[in-house]
This record gives sequence, structure tokens and C-alpha cells, in this order.
Amino acid sequence: MSQGINNGSALCRFCGSPLHHTFVDLGMSPPCESYLSQEQLNAMEPFYPLHVYVCDQCFLVQLEQYMSPEAIFCEYAYFSSYSDAWLQHAKYYTEMAVERFKLHGASQVVELASNDGYLLQYFVQKGIPVLGVEPAANVAISAIEKGVPTLVKFFGEELAREMVTEGKGADLLIGNNVLAQVPDLNDFVQGMKTFLKPGGVITMEFPHLMRLMEENQFDTIYHEHFSYFSFFSVEKIFAFHGLKIFDVEELSTHGGSLRIYACHGDDTSKVAGNRVDELRERELAAGVADLGLYSSFDEKVKKTKRLLLDFLINAKETGRSIAGYGAPGKGNTLLNYCGVRTDFIDYTVDRNPYKQGKYLPGTHIPIFHPDKVKETRPDYLLILPWNFKDEIIKQMSYIRDWGGQFVVPIPEAKVIG
Ligand SMILES: [Zn+2]
Repeated sequence: MSQGINNGSALCRFCGSPLHHTFVDLGMSPPCESYLSQEQLNAMEPFYPLHVYVCDQCFLVQLEQYMSPEAIFCEYAYFSSYSDAWLQHAKYYTEMAVERFKLHGASQVVELASNDGYLLQYFVQKGIPVLGVEPAANVAISAIEKGVPTLVKFFGEELAREMVTEGKGADLLIGNNVLAQVPDLNDFVQGMKTFLKPGGVITMEFPHLMRLMEENQFDTIYHEHFSYFSFFSVEKIFAFHGLKIFDVEELSTHGGSLRIYACHGDDTSKVAGNRVDELRERELAAGVADLGLYSSFDEKVKKTKRLLLDFLINAKETGRSIAGYGAPGKGNTLLNYCGVRTDFIDYTVDRNPYKQGKYLPGTHIPIFHPDKVKETRPDYLLILPWNFKDEIIKQMSYIRDWGGQFVVPIPEAKVIG
């Protein structure tokens, strides 16, 4: 297997064992949310390794932490509310949770990494008390403006104890796409255990490592994502902190996510359902507890890079123009790893006004308002947030008026007819 042996300093974020086995090495990359202004283009940019390891003891796939969480999250460019599909997902979740967990005007719903209030706003509409915890001040302000009370803090055991002392606690504790981004995983999960009321429920959504591997989603690896979870690893981590996973759903969001439902380990009112056993067995059969499963991924990723470059080179050789759609973190991993700059892609567009007028980190591809596509009529539109490709193809279907075509880079470069 490809074994980049590290310098021996890195230890597993969960179990503390030394990390020796490479999962994938994407080389050096800038922090993926560090969009640049024009004035910053001539300045030095920090690049950090995107070298992911798998622990040979607990099989947690993980990236070393190179930057402080404060540096990453204090001004976060990702506003959840800019995606219609994600808002719809949040709305459906709210309907389900209110009914399944019998939430009412005296319940307390808490979301960790509540972003701009994209989810909690739907609980507010139903008259259910909410609290958001969000470390990025700029997105938290947007939540507060929506009427979602939000604490601008990092969550962990210390904050959980502080809030419990003040008589707070959660009946429903939500964490969507946050677990991967927690540098001190044990402190965070212990904090959830502390903050959960007896009889309360935790639900968390995170990208499923098995799908990442199966569908070659290496571009979802970035410095902000420290851990990549199988059901196997997350169940082990929760059990260590006295939490029991009693249900799990496989969702299509973010290229394939898990939604886990957890409670206190001694809560006998919730019995683990079939889906938990079924998924656990399916992962074991796929080799989730065997290093062999992880060792082949690096080569698969290199092959995807060659396929994308083949497509781009061919398009340019035949005189076609290519623009990007979206400026997501995953696009930055992809473009930096593949070395794709304005030599291939003239520009990209994004609906998020915060990103318009800026440049992608590393590659310096300019970001415009989506109307730019109408003006320049590119032959190809490369969809970087491929997890929203259906929504984007619908929004941008007018490119077909001039014979434009959509391209997705993952799981391999493909033109959508
Ligand atoms: Zn480990």
C-alpha cells in the first residue's frame, strides 16, 4: 500500500494511536475558504498539506490540524441559505423531527454550528424555542436577524457545562456537517453528552466515508474537514462517550450522508432499529475494519485527475471555452490538486454575493455573478458543487440555447448531454 510515513508526531484524534497509513495525499493546498480580494492577489498565500491518514487501530480517517479553528471559522464564507435544495432539506427535517420527537412550545431545540439560521428558522415558525451555537460571527449575525437566538462560541465540554449550570439543556441537539470540522473530537462529543437532557435526542448529519470512497469524492477533503466518518467509526466514538446510536438514515445530501440518531447509553425508551444493524454489517462486509479497503483510494484519485485533465486539454485544443459554476470549498481542492487555473477555466460564478468579485484561493480564478454566463456564452459549464448539480442544471438550463453543455468532474469528468 502507499504508505507515506509521517514524521511520527501525528496521533489519532480519537484513540491517540500514531498515524502511519496514508489514505490519500492531495499535496499542498491553500485553506479552501480563503477567497482573495484583488489586492491580495500579489501577496504570499499559505499552503498546507492535504495528506489524509487512516488510523490502524480505530480506522478513523483524518487530516492533521494545521490551522487554528479561529483562523478557519471566524469569518466563514459559507451561508447555508444560498442553496434552495439545502433549505428544502432543512424544512423536511423540521417536519419529521417535530412529529417523531413530539416537540412543543416547552421543548428546547439546539443546533451546533447553526450557520445563518437556515434550519432553526423553521422551528421558530412552529413556536418551538431554539438556540443556535455558531463560532463564525458574520453568519451568526445573519441568523439573529432572522429571529434565531445565536451564541457566537465554539462548542465543547466547557461551554456545555457552563450552560447546564445555567439550567439549560437540549431535548433535541442537532449537528449538521459539523462533526467533521471539530478539531477536538472527544471534547465535542463529550460536550454533547453533557448538554443532552435525559430522554433527549441527538441527530447529526455528515458525509459518509463509504460513499466518498465508492464515488471518488476526494474533493470533499479540505483543511476544515479534520475527520471522515464511517458508521463503524462514529458508533465507536459515541459509545466511548456514553451515547447510543438507535437509528440511522442514508441521505443523498452532500454526495451521500448519514443521519444518525443518538441518545444516552442508559436510555431504555429507545431501542436500536434494524437500520443500525444492517448498515454496521454492510460496512464490515465492505472491509471497514481492514486497512486494505483504504489503501487503494490514492491511486483511484490520481486516475480521476488524469481524466479531468484529458477532458480540459481536449476542450481547449478544439477551441472551446470553459467557465465554472460555483465557488465551493470542494472546487478549490479539486482545482488546486489538478493544477487547473485560468489557463483552462476563464472564470466561475456564484450566487453568494460575499464571494462575487473575489478570486479562488490558489488558482486565482475570478468569481462573478451568474449573469456573467449569459454575457460570455461558454461552451462548457463545469459544475464544481456537483452535489447540487440537478438544481444548477435547472437554473442554468438556458446555456443550451447557444449549445452550451454541463460538465461534472466527479466521480469522473463527464459531459451531461
Ligand atoms: Zn484511532
